[in-house]
Order: sequence, then structure tokens, then C-alpha cells
Amino acid sequence: MKLTVIGFGQCGGRIADEFARINARAISQRGTQITPGVYAVNTDSADLTGLHYIKADYQHRILIGGRKTGGHGVGKLNEIGAKIAKEDSDKIFEAIISTRHLFESDAFLLVASGGGGTGSGAIAVMTRLIKERFDHKPVYDMIILPFEHEELTEERATYNTALCLKTVNSIADAVILVDNQRYIKEDASLKSNFTEINRLIVEPFYDLLCAGEETKTRFIGAKTLDAGDIMQTLTGWTALGYGKEDVPMFNFPFRRSGFRSKIDQTYKGIQAMEQAISRLSVDCNPGDASRALYLLSAPAGEMSMYIVKEIGEYLRNLAPRATIRNGDYPRERRQIEVNVIISGLNNIEKVKNFYLKSLDLIPEFQRRQEENEERLKEMEETGKGIPSLLQ
Ligand code: GDP
Repeated sequence: MKLTVIGFGQCGGRIADEFARINARAISQRGTQITPGVYAVNTDSADLTGLHYIKADYQHRILIGGRKTGGHGVGKLNEIGAKIAKEDSDKIFEAIISTRHLFESDAFLLVASGGGGTGSGAIAVMTRLIKERFDHKPVYDMIILPFEHEELTEERATYNTALCLKTVNSIADAVILVDNQRYIKEDASLKSNFTEINRLIVEPFYDLLCAGEETKTRFIGAKTLDAGDIMQTLTGWTALGYGKEDVPMFNFPFRRSGFRSKIDQTYKGIQAMEQAISRLSVDCNPGDASRALYLLSAPAGEMSMYIVKEIGEYLRNLAPRATIRNGDYPRERRQIEVNVIISGLNNIEKVKNFYLKSLDLIPEFQRRQEENEERLKEMEETGKGIPSLLQ
């Protein structure tokens, strides 16, 4: 599957940059493109300069709102991010359309944080405009949710996230949720190590996207996972998961034969699937999903339809309501890896919490604004009798 990836704001731009990195790897290792066009859009020029893999020209690193913000961002106000993106949308379209590979891609993936200003506002507006302009290509949005400490200390991050989620869910073909907090739970040393977190977020896409683009016969599975499978799976609220287990040396390449080996392989496959489910990108219950997909990647000798079936049954028990698609991808790495997509979720506590907290914040923000205006008026009144130097 090939994606056109557009990152908005600092977080979105950096994650898009990771996609450009895995694309370069797919070209060198597997002779195929997976993200033919990758762009970063921002109101902050310094953020654009800090990227590494996205082409360093104004058609790939797109500065918007330059005149309004002087290239310094929108200061957490996502309404302004949305307004600027709308005003400068022609600039974004011009850049995307003028690159050669746009028409090769199967879908758009737009990425931004929910809690910021530029990305959170711009992604909502651009999702709508891209859907209107390219109505035959699906548009998927990936929204990065704030850390717990940000939720606790920055009301605006909670409010922005709620606004962004509500808007994108009404227009995007699917909303992939990625909770920053889940990545530092796994490994506290990752706190504020965005490079590593972004790597963990994007890495699972490598096999998912490459599987259907593979041209070498030895890497083509019994059941290839292609763009159609992924597109038919992605709908509404979505979570992604990834798990891996090492295949011990003694098992490879001189595999143990027969019954014992089959049990070992299946056990490893199930463990990788358990990991993928326990590390879903957002806390959710697969039982609430209407669609799911898994991809098993393993050394060809370690893969059998038996494991594919067993891990499929494991997922079926967790997601009994879901239509489940699958694929297998023979690799040379000594690992059994499982990628899962859990989609069409009808209940996510985290999203409901953002909505509820924001409903409480709206009257509070209004009260503060009114109080602010009142005090300013009062001050003005107090100095009414003083002449101005401008007269
Ligand atoms: P914007 O540039 O105005 O859109 O704002 P940001 O993208 O900086 O949004 C701030 C939110 O994004 C906070 O919740 C940060 O924790 C998160 N964030 C910022 N940069 C990154 C990043 O590179 N990776 C991840 N995963 N989160 C980030």
C-alpha cells in the first residue's frame, strides 16, 4: 500500500519525517516506495528546519500563515491553526499536486497532535478540503493524544484534543488514535524522547505497507495483505498494535520437525499477538470493534497456515463482532512479528473523557473571558479623565 503522508504542526511534521525515513529504507531494502509523497506543514519555520528526511524544499516543508505569525506558530490556539490552514490551503494543494508521485498513492494519511495549536486545527480543515478535492481516495487521520501530565496541567491541550477529535471523526475515513502516554508506560526512559516514541509509532507501518508492494517471490506470502484489505478494515475510531518474539537460533534454519516445532511456533505467534493487543496505540476493548486485521511476518520456515489460523482464532475470541482480515509475510529476520489493526470501535473511554472534560471547560473559559473583559473595562473607566499623548 502506498500513502501520501502530510504532517501538520511540530508533532505531525516529525512523525511524517519518520514515514519519509521508512520509505527510504523500503527503497533501499525492498526496492519499493511506500510513501511516495511526504510533506510537513507548519506555521513555525524552526520546526520545519529541524526535520531530517522530508525533502528540504518549500514544496515539501510548507510554511503557512507566515504573514500572520511571522513564522512563530499559533501559541496553542487551534482555532487559529484551522483558520490559517484554510486561508493557505491553496499553497498546500499546489505543493502536493506538483509532486510527481501523488497519483500512485492509494490513500492519504494526515498526522497531527490533538493538544497543539497548528496541527490540531489544520488537520481538521485539511481533511475536509482533501476529501472534497480527491473524493476517490480515502483520507485517514492519525491523532496523537497528549501525555497525562499535559492533560493535568494544560487545560488547553484537553480542549484542543476534544475539538480536533470531534471534527476529524465527522469527516475522515478513519481516525487512528495514538496515546503518547502508552509509550512511556512501557519504558519510562522514553519520557520526552520524542525521536524514540515516533519511531515506535511509525515502525509497525513498515511491514503493513511493504507486504502488498513486495515483488520478490520468496517474500510473497500464501495470503498477501494488500491495500484493499487495509482500506476495507480502516473505518472510524482505530487502534494499532505491534508485537514481536525472537525465534531462537537453534530453531533456525535447522528447524525442529514435527509436533514440538509446531507447538513452539504457535506459542511464539500467540505471544506476539498478545503483545500487539496489550500494546495497542490507545486503550480500548477489541470486543467493541467491527473490523480487525492482522499481519504475521516471520521467517518463511517458521510460518505455517496453522499459526496464521491459531492467532486468528485468538483474535476472533477477543473481537467476536469484527470482520477479520489477515495476511502473512515471509521475512528473513529471526523474529515472529504481528501487526494488528482494530477498527470501527464504538467505545473509547479516553475519547469520552476528553469530551466530558471539555464540556466542563467551555463555561469556565467563557467565564474567564468575561471576567477579563470586565476588568479591562474597569481599568479604562478609571483612567477616563487622563489625556492621551496621541491627541
Ligand atoms: P503544534 O505545532 O502547534 O501543532 O503543536 P505540537 O505538535 O507541538 O503539539 C503539542 C502536543 O504534541 C503535546 O501533546 C506534545 O506532547 C505532542 N508532541 C509534540 N511533538 C511530538 C513528537 O515529536 N512526537 C509525539 N509523539 N508527540 C509530540
